[in-house]
Amino acid sequence: MSNKPSLILAIDQGTTSSRAILFSAELEVLSTQQKELALHYPHKGWVEQNPEDIWCDTLDVCRRIVRSLPDEAKAIAAIGITNQRETTILWDRKTGMPVYNAIVWQDRRTAPLCEQLRAAGHEPMVEAKTGLLFDPYFSAGKIAWILAHVEGARERAERGELAFGTIDCYLLWRLTGGRVHASDVTNASRTQLYNIVEQKWDEALLALFDIPEQILPEVLDNAADFGVTDPALFGREIPICGMAGDQHAALIGQGCVRPGMVKSTYGTGCFALMNIGSDFRVSQNRLLTTPAYRLDGKMVYALEGSIFIAGAAIQWLRDGLEFFSDAGLSEDLARSVHDNNEVYFVPAFTGLGAPYWRPDVRGAIMGLSRETTKAHIVRAALEAQGYQTRDLMTAMEADSACEAAVIRIDGGLVANAFMCQFLADMLNKPVEVPEVTEATALGAACLAGLYTGILPGLEAITQRWRKARVYQPAMAESERERLYRGWKAAVEALL
Ligand code: ADP
Repeated sequence: MSNKPSLILAIDQGTTSSRAILFSAELEVLSTQQKELALHYPHKGWVEQNPEDIWCDTLDVCRRIVRSLPDEAKAIAAIGITNQRETTILWDRKTGMPVYNAIVWQDRRTAPLCEQLRAAGHEPMVEAKTGLLFDPYFSAGKIAWILAHVEGARERAERGELAFGTIDCYLLWRLTGGRVHASDVTNASRTQLYNIVEQKWDEALLALFDIPEQILPEVLDNAADFGVTDPALFGREIPICGMAGDQHAALIGQGCVRPGMVKSTYGTGCFALMNIGSDFRVSQNRLLTTPAYRLDGKMVYALEGSIFIAGAAIQWLRDGLEFFSDAGLSEDLARSVHDNNEVYFVPAFTGLGAPYWRPDVRGAIMGLSRETTKAHIVRAALEAQGYQTRDLMTAMEADSACEAAVIRIDGGLVANAFMCQFLADMLNKPVEVPEVTEATALGAACLAGLYTGILPGLEAITQRWRKARVYQPAMAESERERLYRGWKAAVEALL
């Protein structure tokens, strides 16, 4: 019995880092390995990553975990994968060589195509099938760009020589030694080619973006048999049994498995998802509808508010403006001044996401005066997270006609207590921080745990969820509304 594998290895391939996290059967974090991942900006608005870096870093962090175990891979029962979503790779099925760099979700090069499709009146059809609006964010336009701009790519794709995958799918293909070309329903849903109502790749959408069906992966439930690792990688075959896009995985990891429960993640971007149950519904307030998860063939949906820049603004203050050497120091700076001095920071570096959807808008710092110091700008960048989330929550509550039952937050920025308190103040609601802040990786581990039977069911996840802290709102209403009006005016000025 004691030799039976019971540990779960979660792979969390994010925008700025690749992580491997080892969980016990009780879902406690046993160890973590992480490597920073570079982003490349070859032209204004373009964001790329090297697929080989993504793979090598992921393999490296997994191997470090495996090697740290006394009996190496033997103790690992299963792997769960979670990943940055929408980022697009096309590769040659025979050689494994990508035909182009990974085009990252933040990349804006397909804005003209999106605008053209919107102007042609296709958005309602696409929204009804995918829950998504036209924005360069999604994979379909990125695939179309590669097929149109890489010499020979279209012909090779039509001959069935190329495979498309989001990062989950690419990692799975590499982990299985090129034997499995599959994705899960949450990642597939972000391509803008997958019909989330009928739950299949959609012919009309493929035709709209002129994409050959031959390149697409098979789409599975979030807890499923995704194959086994190539024994050459870890010395034995390890089953891969869970997969979900990072935001969906975080929803599960945060135990938001009942309608009305909300999680909001503050990493590179900010993404809030509200579980809305088993009925698909199109947003009336320019949010996205997305699969929360599909288990045993049963789909549960979520409303999603996506904001492209959250922690990335702090990173920019650190690296671009060199205001501080470590993101953690932003908190002391923000607290060193007693208010924002009327400074508002709209971090629309790659356009505005929900609920504005304006890929053409760029960021701005407004209200500058002679009294403005870097501390005010840093404070404004952190406060922006509160305003952005309030924009989303207002839209979500209008769409769902109910108040959020609970708001649980996670992601790198949650280490910043100033940001968390401001968030509670701006939403005028308590926000809960979990004990396991690695909610995304935990969600992937839960999915693998569900498939292998290590976890008895979804409810077990909510029962095991523990809060570390709750931030209670403490701001006077007049102050809250004054500040929010200031934010709205700053955003309006850019539209
Ligand atoms: P991702 O998964 O998108 O790569 P993470 O969840 O790891 O992102 O969060 C990293 C982000 O959080 C970085 O952009 C960083 O600037 C920001 N961050 C980390 N710690 C703090 C902090 N104490 N205060 C403010 N921002 C922080």
